[in-house]
Amino acid sequence: MKGIPYVQDRYSPTLDIFPIQCSEFNRIYQFYENLKENRLTTTKCLSCRHVAYPPRVLCPQCYSEELEWIDLPDRGKVLCVVEKWKGLPICFEAPLITAWIELPDPSPVKRLLTRIINCGAGQLKEGSEVRLTVFDVDAHPIDKGKEKFMKERVFFAFEPVQ
Ligand SMILES: [Zn+2]
Repeated sequence: MKGIPYVQDRYSPTLDIFPIQCSEFNRIYQFYENLKENRLTTTKCLSCRHVAYPPRVLCPQCYSEELEWIDLPDRGKVLCVVEKWKGLPICFEAPLITAWIELPDPSPVKRLLTRIINCGAGQLKEGSEVRLTVFDVDAHPIDKGKEKFMKERVFFAFEPVQ
């Protein structure tokens, strides 16, 4: 269901769709630290106040690197939904559901494209309410000098509000 970067106990970077989430390798690692607290966040420019989603390391409007993290709503309403049954990435089960969702005012990000999980086929319609859900994905092996360790990881999707 999650996408599995391990095949027969061997890590395969080419099959790993989830990012490395530690500060040494990812400048938006804070996004994942916030997810671990069940917070969906993005970056806001301290210079021109532009809010970008997905989060950035550089403001796309004024190129400032002075950004702050802001929280986004953890609920939204479905605008349109797609259930994919064929041609799925390896280790994903059908249906793979994605949706454009609308975030409630006064969210600075009005809509976003997200995966939907914990959801049956045909369950979501336009206007259905969904909420943020954060789940663990397989840890990622990190080589840092002579040190080797596993970095725990998370990712997010939305799920139907029952
Ligand atoms: Zn800016």
